[in-house]
Parts: sequence; C-alpha cells; structure tokens
Amino acid sequence: MASTLFFTNCHLSPFSSTAAAALRRHPIRVAPTSLRFLALHSAPSQSSRVAAVAAMGTEASAKVIDGKLVAKQIRDEITAEVSRMKEAIGVVPGLAVILVGDRKDSATYVRNKQKACEAAGINSLEAFLPEDSTEEEVLNYISGYNEDPSVHGILVQLPLPSHMNEQNILNAITIEKDVDGFHPLNIGRLAMRDREPLFVPCTPKGCIELLRRYGVSIKGTRAVVIGRSNIVGMPAALLLQREDATVSVVHSKTLNPEEIIRQADIVISAAGQPHMVRGSWIKPGAVIIDVGINPVEDPNSTRGYRLIGDVCYEEAIKVASAVTPVPGGVGPMTIAMLLQNTLNSAKRIHKFE
Ligand code: NAD
Repeated sequence: MASTLFFTNCHLSPFSSTAAAALRRHPIRVAPTSLRFLALHSAPSQSSRVAAVAAMGTEASAKVIDGKLVAKQIRDEITAEVSRMKEAIGVVPGLAVILVGDRKDSATYVRNKQKACEAAGINSLEAFLPEDSTEEEVLNYISGYNEDPSVHGILVQLPLPSHMNEQNILNAITIEKDVDGFHPLNIGRLAMRDREPLFVPCTPKGCIELLRRYGVSIKGTRAVVIGRSNIVGMPAALLLQREDATVSVVHSKTLNPEEIIRQADIVISAAGQPHMVRGSWIKPGAVIIDVGINPVEDPNSTRGYRLIGDVCYEEAIKVASAVTPVPGGVGPMTIAMLLQNTLNSAKRIHKFE
C-alpha cells in the first residue's frame, strides 16, 4: 500500500455500512460459468451520459462481486489438489519469496502470502535481504531457487530499492518458475496469438476469473482497461483481448477518459486514483472490476485511514449490473491466483495431471 494519503471528492458514506446493506439486499450466488445472469447492454446510445445519470436511482441495483468468497472457494480447491498431489507422488509445491528492504507494506504482503501458502499446504521459503544488498546478491538467491527442485515458483516482491535494476532481476527468474508472470517471455506469449504463456500475472488473472465465475460473457463485448502498468493494466488488456473483447486502454494521458469509459460493457480499473470513476461515467448495466487500492484519510477509523477503490462504489452500484467492492473484491483474488500458479507449476514440472 502506498504511504501517501489522498482526499477524495466523492463524498459518500463510508464503504463498510453501505456495502453491508447492499450485500443484505442482494445475497450473493456464485453462478456456474455456463450461467449468464448478467445481461450486458450492446452498443452505447448517443446520449449515454444522460442515460447513465438517469439510471442512477437512489437504490443500489448492481450485484456485488464477492472476491473474498470466490477466493476462498479457489483456495479450498487448491488445498484439495495439493493434498491429492502429495498423496499420489509425494511432491509438495514450493514458493520462494525474495523481499529486499524493510518497507512495511511489502512485509505485510509477504506475510500474507506466507500464511496463504501454509493454509493451502504449499511450502513457503523466504529470503529477507537488507535494503543495501547488491543486485548480485539478489541474483544469487534467484539462481539458487532456479536450481532448487523443491521450489516451483519464485517471486520477487516489488518495488525493489531504487539502486537495483528491476528488469535484470525479473529476467533472471527461470520462465518455468515465473509464478508472477512478469518475465518478458511470458508477457510476450500472452500478447501473441496462438502462443500460451506458462503463467499469467496474478491480479489481472484474478479479474478474469471473477468475471468467469460470475458468468459474465466477455466475447464480443466492449471493454475498457484504465491503467497500462506492466503488472496490472497491460496484461489485463491482453487477457480481455484473448477472450475476444474489443479493448480500449485509458491512461494518464488519455483525453476525455469518461467518453471512452462510458462505452464499456466491462471496465477494469487499475489507475490508483481514488474514486476517479464516477457513476455518470458508467454505461448502465456495465460490469465494473475495481483493482485500485487507495488509502484515504478517515478520522473515524482507528488507523486514521481507510482503503477505497478507483471507482466511486456508492454511485457505481446504482448504475452498473455488477461491481467489485474495495476491499473484498480483486485483492483476495491476487493471492489465490498466486497459489494456483504455484500449484500449476509443480504439476507441470512433475507431469502430474
Ligand atoms: P501504476 O502506478 O504502476 O500504474 C497506474 C496506471 O494508471 C498508469 O498506467 C497510469 O497511466 C494510469 N493512470 C494514472 N492516473 C490516471 C488517470 N487519472 N486516468 C487514467 N489513467 C491513469 O499502478 P499499478 O501497480 O498498476 O496499480 C494500480 C492500482 O491497483 C493501485 O491502486 C494499486 O494499489 C492497485 N493494485 C491492486 C492489486 C490487488 O491485488 N487488488 C494488485 C496490484 C495493484
């Protein structure tokens, strides 16, 4: 989590109480993938802005996409699969995490990954290196894990200290153990038709998995991804394209982003801008996946801040057909996808079906 606190101009009641009310009104049912319960609207009308505003009634109408629930289901599936593999061939998947420096947010992420591994029966190995380590020391750890047969996935926690070359370090991870999916060969394969990456980056993969598990049909839709980072926005756009959506990417230099976003049946927002996407930017019936995690000041919270998404949730639930909350949407899916990538890696290396 970034340490900066932002003020937001989407002045609305705190998420927790509103979301809880929405959950009570719209109990969640995770649909089988074949069931398409969300009707996506087709071509946008010329007066879509007016329509979007008019469609924003006072009541929430969107389904809440419950990432916590889906992630729990996936983690249960992984736990069962890990124990089946252990019983059948005596192999336990292993994930190695390298953390350089003492950033509190990074340490929390690493601890959460470690806990999730333990809960799923996956071995977790950690290398904690001091901030002033050299690039060579990090590369030595990577090369050790590349050779270690008990390690099936290697993850370098980002960001790295500024004196290190991130590209050199990520490129050193063998593609067979690149569970974060950031190696240029994996990203290249993701971008090319008829090529299969060995791993897909966890957060965008989690977004697509949420759509899939909620029965949202992607093929033929118009999708907009907000943000073009290497770890979220860019791979999310590639994945949507692979699913036959027509994809536009909005970024910090895009003029009139709301005009483009208003045409989308599916929006994945990963800009890191608190409450940037307002209800009036959303096409009625669109599905909204909010990746953003932004700390904003909150004197009512004991921590002094709370986390909100890129999308003004309270407005979005009145106009969209389905929305992910923050927290509890995409966040829990990221770790679930990391565990899945690690399990799949172990299965591939040991040719276990
Ligand atoms: P980043 O800063 O690397 O990239 C942000 C992208 O958003 C850039 O491409 C930039 O061009 C674009 N952008 C910035 N301001 C914009 C604006 N006003 N309009 C349109 N585009 C704009 O960030 P990132 O690592 O991709 O993360 C994005 C957000 O997602 C952050 O809030 C981050 O905390 C969150 N995140 C969440 C998870 C998760 O598991 N839920 C994982 C990774 C990142």
